Amino acid sequence: MYNKDQLRNTLRKIDGKGYKAYKELQGKEYDFGEYSITFDYVQGDPFASPTKVTIKVPQKIAGFKRELYENHARKTALTDYLTRAFARAISKYAKGNRGTGKSGMIGIDCPGQEVLVRTSADIDDEKILVRIVVGLPAQGRRILAKQAIAMFFEEIPELVKTALIYENLPEKELINHIQIVEDQEVMRNQLKEKGLVAFIGNGSILPRRSGIDDRPMSKDKAVAFVSPPDLEVELETKHQGKVKGMGIPEGVTLLVGGGYHGKSTVLKAIERGVYNHIPGDGRERVVTVSTAFKIRAEDGRRVEKVNISPFINNLPHGQDTHEFSTEDASGSTSQAANIMEALELNSKLLLLDEDTSATNFMIRDARMQELVAKEKEPITPFIDQVTFLKKELDVSTIMVIGGSGDYFDVADCVIMMDHYLPHHVTAEAKEIAKKYATHRRVEESGGFTDIKLDRIPLPQGFNPKKGRKVKIKARGLHHIQFGMEDIKLEFVEQLVDKSQTKAIGDIIYYALNKGYLDGNRSLFEVLKMVYQDIEQYGLEVIAPFGNSDGDYALPRLLEVGAAINRLRTLQIK
Ligand code: ADP
Ligand code: MG
Repeated sequence: MYNKDQLRNTLRKIDGKGYKAYKELQGKEYDFGEYSITFDYVQGDPFASPTKVTIKVPQKIAGFKRELYENHARKTALTDYLTRAFARAISKYAKGNRGTGKSGMIGIDCPGQEVLVRTSADIDDEKILVRIVVGLPAQGRRILAKQAIAMFFEEIPELVKTALIYENLPEKELINHIQIVEDQEVMRNQLKEKGLVAFIGNGSILPRRSGIDDRPMSKDKAVAFVSPPDLEVELETKHQGKVKGMGIPEGVTLLVGGGYHGKSTVLKAIERGVYNHIPGDGRERVVTVSTAFKIRAEDGRRVEKVNISPFINNLPHGQDTHEFSTEDASGSTSQAANIMEALELNSKLLLLDEDTSATNFMIRDARMQELVAKEKEPITPFIDQVTFLKKELDVSTIMVIGGSGDYFDVADCVIMMDHYLPHHVTAEAKEIAKKYATHRRVEESGGFTDIKLDRIPLPQGFNPKKGRKVKIKARGLHHIQFGMEDIKLEFVEQLVDKSQTKAIGDIIYYALNKGYLDGNRSLFEVLKMVYQDIEQYGLEVIAPFGNSDGDYALPRLLEVGAAINRLRTLQIK
């Protein structure tokens, strides 16, 4: 370990020199007394991706009590809080621009509305640390030592003091953050024993500010959620007493109602309920079973040897649907594949919205059955299989259906949205179903238990190289460059953070490197092994070049699987 005067001297010595002279800092750790700074990676020029720095504060100085991070939920919440506090301090104290390109910038991977496991911060009994990026200052390519000294000797000390020392943080806010997150885990863990798949607390604010702004709609515009009396349940929490709200039972649930009355908004909140949210989000009392998966039509996607036979049979030209492959799936075949792939990865709750479903996949009414003979229609619509998903695999479904009352026959629970408020209308819907028979024929029954869901990916289907070099790079939320391939994730709707996307690319590479993808293990087995490693060694374990990347966030196993299934070179045994 070096001391801070040595850093100052080094910077003075290289002042005015070419940018490459900064490389001298790489790998070095400098002691600042109350904390240390390590240069994990030093950028090559002022425009390149910035320098990676780890700041470590010994616990005896930082002063975080053990109970603040003693279980997984609390630790995740606390490190999330520290990340946000650090980001806030940056916008308050960091000057920003100090020369050419990224000169002067200081950044930390800032979370959105969800609280995810991230590598931006970590805590244990010895220390707390944050992994940040800085732009080492230069004019053109000439080093500006004075500016660098201002960053490391004025700004960063201020950031550390403000954001990483317990007694300087707003204690109430910090503890509330941890408690609200922990309670979401506690609530989610009660769903199963109560026979529920989702819960929406009374008073929740579900609508968002806009399609591109995930913060809550302002309180004066949003209608707060209130459970219908006979769907109201109580969940226990650790810190807020009993919480009341609407419990959605296992089985088949319909969200019905007129257009623009808030159906999709409820479903979206349920989709996101697999994650924990920050206090004030409006969804911090919305919890969903953690394996819930959004199913939608996705025409154009590739499908590799998926058994879609419960939904699709007798395709033209005798195409096999027990091992169905296509470079260009239709709306209905893509939706069927999305379901079967979710079942393969053990999803226990499917979420569907009519807005994003293929109509011919969802329903075929009596008149259409009359006109088009069953032998000429490859699709067994979802309406004829949805109850068997529950009976055979214990998989529940929640779906938004505004257009087809035929579903009343198969529903266990019907919730009607009216002016953004839910009403329980199961009895009425069943009454109507009796009064107006659909006269449609039930077309197929089950078949989910007879088929093998597991698929075994072959290692040769994964090539992380572009030319001679490994090239894996996330581009925003929805794209991963994996070697020569572009994995498209626009339609994987429960992916919420671009740092999850980045993690997915490196998780695939990790599984390949570790030999988990060996051509004998199923996709599910491979992913479970990776997640065991992450649990044991931390999310940093997936970083291909050491532990310095502060911009990973943990995706769910289901989203990693979804990405692999969308890799166009995937080969299944
Ligand atoms: P549907 O799926 O029934 O057609 P949406 O869920 O898309 O309706 O909602 C329609 C509009 O109403 C959206 O712009 C949404 O932001 C808004 N909205 C939804 N829920 C609420 C609410 N609880 N309070 C206020 N506005 C809402
Ligand atoms: Mg809708």
